[in-house]
Amino acid sequence: MEWIHVPVMAKEVLDYFGNLSGVFLDCTVGAGGHSEAILTNIEGSVVVGLDVDDVALSLAKRRLAEFMAQGRFFIAKSSYVEARDVLKQLKISSVSAILMDLGMSTLQLSDSERGFAFSTDGPLDMRMNKAQEFTAYDLVNSWTEEQLRRLFFEYAEEKRYARRIAAFIVRNRPIRSTLELANVVAKALPAEEKRARKRHFATKVFQAIRIAVNNELENLKTFLSRAPELLKSGGRIGVISFHSLEDRIVKEALRSSSDLVVLTKKPLRPSQEEVRANPKARSAKMRVAERK
Ligand code: SAH
Repeated sequence: MEWIHVPVMAKEVLDYFGNLSGVFLDCTVGAGGHSEAILTNIEGSVVVGLDVDDVALSLAKRRLAEFMAQGRFFIAKSSYVEARDVLKQLKISSVSAILMDLGMSTLQLSDSERGFAFSTDGPLDMRMNKAQEFTAYDLVNSWTEEQLRRLFFEYAEEKRYARRIAAFIVRNRPIRSTLELANVVAKALPAEEKRARKRHFATKVFQAIRIAVNNELENLKTFLSRAPELLKSGGRIGVISFHSLEDRIVKEALRSSSDLVVLTKKPLRPSQEEVRANPKARSAKMRVAERK
């Protein structure tokens, strides 16, 4: 079935979680790929899956219906920031493992109406949670030039061109669609710069806007600071991230917690075979820590 999302670094997740038993919290259930890997490979495991995206939630429910019927899979529409409340409602006070997969799901990227992609035209949306009001359109059209500059400087790591991109955006407003935005970024960057980049020249700008619209880095920091309290002694947390801003936060949070022991000195990386089969995995890094 083509909609099935192939989970990134599933082998590594099972290597580190395989000897645990009990409740596994999947903070970012997406299309249910990791949850399915846990449920099918770890005997007796129970998974609680969270997501804020309605499309992801309905796909995961369909994919894992059999486990739901067996009482081994529970799913809730919730930000992982509120994981504790969801667990409380299920009368679960602590879990054996926590998994976070911070990637974008292909479901989100491939639906142009969601406004995450610049390869096809779509509205400037980028909300993971449709219940939220603030969209990429609001950000692009109402933030000040200085706010935009800082966003691109810090989150897009556009050290050199942040100011130009921000100025071009402000000059070309209103900007309504993803292709319009990509064209404005194109105008802001010199031709040789665009040619020199390995990735699409607008990738980092779109990523920065997405991070801000969904408050992604703040959510991650907040959750990681509370995560040790949710884990049983000997329980483990594994986080898969896809860019350096996230990885820096994960590394710092796991290392600075006095309740955790980091099990991965260096982040784990996907195997070459995995990257060949699933190019989306190429930038993934996974860090794991254990509750004392
Ligand atoms: N591991 C999944 C794919 C996850 S993709 C699989 O194997 O299928 C990342 C998911 O995280 C997306 O579906 C996105 O909607 C979700 N997400 C993003 N921010 C979130 C948050 N704050 N709380 C819960 N889920 C979130």
